[in-house]
Amino acid sequence: MGVTLKLGESRFTLKSRLVADASGRNAVIGRQLRLLRPDPDFRQFAVHSWFSNVDRGKDSTSDFTHIYLMPLRRGWAWQIPIDKQVTSVGIVTEREDFLKSGDDAESFFRRTAALNKVLAQRMSRAERLREFHTDGNYSYCLDRFAGNGWIALGDAAYFVDPIFSSGVNEALQSAAFAAPLLSKAIASGGASRSSLTATKKDFVKAPEYGGDSSVCSMR
Ligand SMILES: Cc1cc2nc3c(=O)[nH]c(=O)nc-3n(C[C@H](O)[C@H](O)[C@H](O)COP(=O)(O)OP(=O)(O)OC[C@H]3O[C@@H](n4cnc5c(N)ncnc54)[C@H](O)[C@@H]3O)c2cc1C
Repeated sequence: MGVTLKLGESRFTLKSRLVADASGRNAVIGRQLRLLRPDPDFRQFAVHSWFSNVDRGKDSTSDFTHIYLMPLRRGWAWQIPIDKQVTSVGIVTEREDFLKSGDDAESFFRRTAALNKVLAQRMSRAERLREFHTDGNYSYCLDRFAGNGWIALGDAAYFVDPIFSSGVNEALQSAAFAAPLLSKAIASGGASRSSLTATKKDFVKAPEYGGDSSVCSMR
């Protein structure tokens, strides 16, 4: 096992007894081993950017994350304060909605944001600060989270639509679950698939999820 590092023009290979893949949605090992399966029923798409002059609503909740429901199947929007001036606003919907529209990212964002009156009002004076970003194939899960000498953590193992803002918590949960397994594997000199086996249920143990692996698909 090991990893290849690229630094500028140079490449190095580091050998190791095990690799913990925490590469987020790049899911390096999952993609290399072709274990990544997009959720067939949950083909989300997001378009987002940072804005100034977003009206964040009343003072007592202006520094909260707000979500808005859109009149589209599985459509919603987020408003996340980055700092006092800058707000991230994104729209999540089914990928088909975007493809069928024929719009570019900006037109799609503006047309869709106008569908929710509160969001439209809050964005009425907003000025975009950077390019729109788009993300597709939102929800996926690896067929398995570990193999001989490797384990995938956080988004490198699975990703669900972030409507409930569970991703950071789940990534930390997966790391907390994996840490003792990895220590034991290193101490015993072997990191076999069976010694590292993990399920979504193991990764999501916080009481608010009731330890329920269904949080992985949120259907
Ligand atoms: C649009 C959007 C909104 C979200 N909103 C929320 C929210 O409100 N609350 C919440 O809890 N979660 C949210 N999430 C989810 C959350 O961001 C992730 O679940 C969380 O960051 C996962 O942590 P991670 O450490 O697994 O991956 P990441 O935070 O993605 O970290 C992966 C790291 O690996 C690095 N990396 C990637 N590939 C390589 C490589 N080949 N070599 C070396 N390094 C590499 C990356 O640069 C990055 O630093 C959101 C996600 C998205 C896409």
